[in-house]
Amino acid sequence: MHLDEPQGLIWDSENYSCAYDSLFSILWNIWQEDATKWSQIFSGMSARMSNLVQGFTNIDDHVISIERLRNNLRQSLHQDFPDLFPYGHQGASVVELAEKMFHNEVPNTTLQLQCSMCDFFKESTDHHLSLVIHGVPRVSATTRDQLRTTLVNDSRELCPECVRPLEHIVTFYDMPKILIFSVSEHNIVISHTINVRTANGINKYYLKGIIYHGGFHFTACLIRQDQTVWFHDGQLGRNCLLESRVKEFSVADLNYCNDRNACLAIYTQD
Ligand SMILES: [Zn+2]
Repeated sequence: MHLDEPQGLIWDSENYSCAYDSLFSILWNIWQEDATKWSQIFSGMSARMSNLVQGFTNIDDHVISIERLRNNLRQSLHQDFPDLFPYGHQGASVVELAEKMFHNEVPNTTLQLQCSMCDFFKESTDHHLSLVIHGVPRVSATTRDQLRTTLVNDSRELCPECVRPLEHIVTFYDMPKILIFSVSEHNIVISHTINVRTANGINKYYLKGIIYHGGFHFTACLIRQDQTVWFHDGQLGRNCLLESRVKEFSVADLNYCNDRNACLAIYTQD
């Protein structure tokens, strides 16, 4: 498939929009790589994501611009959460934005307490896990660890049979096609890929975007199917700058970009 150069959103200097610009630029790029597939996936994830992909389709049909779509979604977020998503020169948290965009209360996982040493387990219950993964502070050193410690972590309860700590085991019904990691704390290393073993085999996640924060501004890197990395800053306009291939980036390179620190990393399954 031939892909033109990726494009991003243009920053609004009256109502600072960099949080929206960076996240939507990455999601737009993911969607453009296979619009049919991602329309179906994203529209099933939440009402706001459904609105976003309908908007992406309308952009392709020249009905609206990406900035108009951003403004419409922003208005809805502002109405529901005025303190989190203000207008003017106040900033918004891109982590909160990702949480709200993908928010959905339908159970997507089971939660089970089980012993790591013996066969003891308690009955599993339905559970909802946010697709924005935080991991355990000071325990998770990489995005892979963040996912692992989110899915398996020690509980405070002891096994009635062998008195070892019971573990919480979180299991997705279906591994989501997209996972988002909050990486701003403790310089979490951004793994290039993440493999998750399930009963159905291995699910492989590829890094698709990173959002950077610093100097009261968000910027983004987009990673395409051909593994090229493109830098986008809405203050510089719509175009992205080609950096290089993701393999050529060391782990440390991915955490910093023009004096800004990584705060969000986005992965998708192929
Ligand atoms: Zn036990």
